[in-house]
Amino acid sequence: MPAPTTYGYRVWLILTGSVITSKLYFSLATATHDHHLETHIIKTAKWSASVFNLIDRAGLKRAFTTLTWHQKISTSKLIHGLANTNRQNRLHYNTTDSCPCCDSSEEIFEHILTCPSLEMTTAQDLLLKQLDANLNQLSMIPPVIHTILLGFSSWLHSPQSRVRPPMAGSFHYIIDGAKLA
Ligand SMILES: [Zn+2]
Repeated sequence: MPAPTTYGYRVWLILTGSVITSKLYFSLATATHDHHLETHIIKTAKWSASVFNLIDRAGLKRAFTTLTWHQKISTSKLIHGLANTNRQNRLHYNTTDSCPCCDSSEEIFEHILTCPSLEMTTAQDLLLKQLDANLNQLSMIPPVIHTILLGFSSWLHSPQSRVRPPMAGSFHYIIDGAKLA
């Protein structure tokens, strides 16, 4: 960023050995906040640094850019556990903490995803079908799609249970086999 001064000098802003020529705000914000943000996420999510590095940031960015502004806000709240629930409403406004759909459980975030009411299970089934269609559109191999959908479906119907995927331990074999087929 060569910038003439009143004395005729030029100034370069150098960050980690490179001259910043554009995106000044982005470069400074990244240098200032990224490490603290990474540390905060690892701590609050109880991840290791290696798990943090598995995040597909480019994929997340691509997915996020397809959303409307309203969807981005809602998705961010869901990802970061900030979605409003009736548990919070009870704490702040002394209103009921019951789920408005089934009226039989306290509405916490996990319950929103696993509510057994007809309205919610219909929506869950519809979304799983959409996910199935999207994964097929990506040409993902059927055993992987089946495992992903089985995991979601099992968790929705019994969040506390652990289901062994049908292809556990055989990922490489199946993927290699699919490539050879
Ligand atoms: Zn419910």
